[in-house]
This record gives sequence, structure tokens and C-alpha cells, in this order.
Amino acid sequence: MRHRVLSSHTEIVEIIKQCQVCHVSMVDPNGKPYVVPMNFGFDEDVIYLHSAQEGKKIDCLRSNPEVCINFTTDHVLRYQHEQVACSWGMKYRSVLCYGSVEFIEDETLKRKALDVLMKQYTERPFTYNDPSIREVSCWIVKVKQFDARVYGY
Ligand SMILES: Cc1cc2nc3c(=O)[nH]c(=O)nc-3n(C[C@H](O)[C@H](O)[C@H](O)COP(=O)(O)OP(=O)(O)OC[C@H]3O[C@@H](n4cnc5c(N)ncnc54)[C@H](O)[C@@H]3O)c2cc1C
Repeated sequence: MRHRVLSSHTEIVEIIKQCQVCHVSMVDPNGKPYVVPMNFGFDEDVIYLHSAQEGKKIDCLRSNPEVCINFTTDHVLRYQHEQVACSWGMKYRSVLCYGSVEFIEDETLKRKALDVLMKQYTERPFTYNDPSIREVSCWIVKVKQFDARVYGY
């Protein structure tokens, strides 16, 4: 079975909204690949992320803000003939988003970013205290390109 390329923006957004985690890939200052799983929010083709202000991923992004972010869901292992290894496969829905990380410094915008992020996981409203807002690093990625594939659905 071949994969199906998805071009429907509505279906792409549905896949992203179903995910609990994304994988953010970047390039380190030595040109080597680096990927980390992260929680996220998504609104109007913008991905919202948050982290500590220091660490390897921050070093990577300060030297090269370009990222490719993967969202994948609905994984189901299946086979046509149990004894034939190459008939085994996994159904999935998957989206790749390409863009650049922008760090948010404005505290009002940071609160908005965290609201979008929390909304991915719960409808509960939150407030954030000033020290937490100062300490957290909030990022946005305005998606320049979506690529999406579905296999087995
Ligand atoms: C489900 C899930 C959700 C997460 N959500 C977030 C989030 O929203 N925000 C956030 O900042 N972090 C999140 N994390 C943690 C994140 O994946 C990184 O581990 C963390 O952010 C530290 O990254 P760093 O580049 O600053 O690593 P550093 O603390 O600088 O450490 C770098 C070293 O640790 C290794 N390393 C870093 N991360 C990992 C990892 N995940 N697994 C194995 N080795 C690792 C690197 O290879 C490198 O050797 C999440 C992790 C999981 C599993």
C-alpha cells in the first residue's frame, strides 16, 4: 500500500491537534542534527513552544533558528501475512512543518503563548506569576511549509 499525500489544510490541522508531543529537529553549531520531543500549542499556522532559557537546543537555535517539526498520530501496527516481514507496516498520520524559531521577549505575548500551549492539553484557564514568566523561554514558529502523509487510512 502506498502512502497518501495530504493537501487538505483542515486535515493537517486535525492531525496536529490530535498530537500530545512533537519532535523538533534542528542543526547544532557544528552542523550536526539534533532532535528533542516537546510539548506544543498550535493556532493559526503558528506553533508555540516553551523551554528553559539555556541548554543545547537554545544554543542550536541561536546559531541557526531553522527547524523542521514532526507531528505523528494514529499509529497502528498491522500486517497482510504474519510470516512475511515486509508485509508488516504501521498505519499513521504524519505532518512535517518547516519554519524558523522566533523567541518571544514581551511578557504579554509570553502569557498568550502559554495559553495557546496549555489549550492543546486542557480547556482549563490559567494565570502565570511574574517570576515564572521571566524565567521561561517562549518560542513561536510561523509555519512556512506543511508536508503531510497518511498511510493505511
Ligand atoms: C514527552 C516529552 C515532552 C517534553 N516537552 C518539553 C517541552 O515542552 N519543553 C522543553 O524544554 N523540554 C521538553 N521535554 C524535554 C526535552 O525533550 C529535552 O530533553 C529538554 O528540553 C532538554 O533539552 P536541551 O537541548 O536543553 O538538553 P540539555 O539539557 O542541554 O542536554 C543536552 C544533552 O542531553 C541529551 N538530551 C537532551 N534531551 C534529551 C532527551 N529528550 N532524550 C535523551 N537525551 C536528551 C542530548 O543529546 C545532549 O547530550 C520533553 C520531553 C518529553 C519526553
